[in-house]
Amino acid sequence: MDAMTTSGTHSLPTPALLADRERYPEGTIVDIGGVSVGGTEVVVIAGPCAVETRDQILKTAEVVRSEGARVLRGGAYKPRTAPYSFRGLEEAGLELLTLARSKTGLPIVTEVMDTKKIQQVCDHADALQIGSRNMHNYALLDEVGLTNKPVLLKRGMSATIQELLLSAEYILKQGNEQVVLCERGIRTFETSTRNTLDLSAVPMLKKLSHLPVVVDPSHAAGHWWMVPALAKAAVAVGADGLLIEVHCDPGCALSDGEQSLKPEHFKTMMAEVRSVARSVGREIAAPGTATRG
Ligand code: PEP
Ligand code: MN
Repeated sequence: MDAMTTSGTHSLPTPALLADRERYPEGTIVDIGGVSVGGTEVVVIAGPCAVETRDQILKTAEVVRSEGARVLRGGAYKPRTAPYSFRGLEEAGLELLTLARSKTGLPIVTEVMDTKKIQQVCDHADALQIGSRNMHNYALLDEVGLTNKPVLLKRGMSATIQELLLSAEYILKQGNEQVVLCERGIRTFETSTRNTLDLSAVPMLKKLSHLPVVVDPSHAAGHWWMVPALAKAAVAVGADGLLIEVHCDPGCALSDGEQSLKPEHFKTMMAEVRSVARSVGREIAAPGTATRG
């Protein structure tokens, strides 16, 4: 039988039982350090691709907080295509994220790539990111499933929706029910964008699964100027959150500067996505409302 059953409802040839919508028809709300993802609010998670310096992360954290972002995201361990590229400040980066949380009150999400570092990352972060390249790293999924931290699981760049849900299943099966799915663009024949944002994944994932779905237009587009348009579209199709890369000086960023919004563009984008959210019965935090310290 193919992916469409004769009953007319969508189901998967290999079911993701624990991730299945039928298990929690109302939808799961994931709590990231006191911020609910999966409720009425569309949660904006923002920050630089990588933590670079104390000044950079503190400044960026304050910018995104003041514009209505509810969660700070920055990488301390960076998966890079070339081994010679900047690969993150590692533990020092985690400590700077903790400092940024204490100054802004924003919970933090950061990537973990290695089972040996899970405890260290858990000691600092409010949520763990599993990056696109590790969506198929089943040993890592098993281990983060044993933690009590929410997991932001990014879709593999060539992964189907079924594969994404089955990767979520690995985490859920271990007892960790706090999983947020992230659409971040997939590889297609198109080369003008870094990836192709699969917006159809949002309503499909929401139909198949009870887990919240966030969209990362930054890694999908690869161009900063496209990010606001894709962010608005993501909110319109039902995303529960957005993941946006922001840098105060993108030209000098150590990673992903081309797709990072400057503070003034982030501000404009936030006003735009807020009005789209309102038009679809959702809300996005107003500027300056997130708690500080
Ligand atoms: C990132 O989030 O900075 C990142 C490397 O993204 P992805 O895993 O989606 O490529
Ligand atoms: Mn990045």
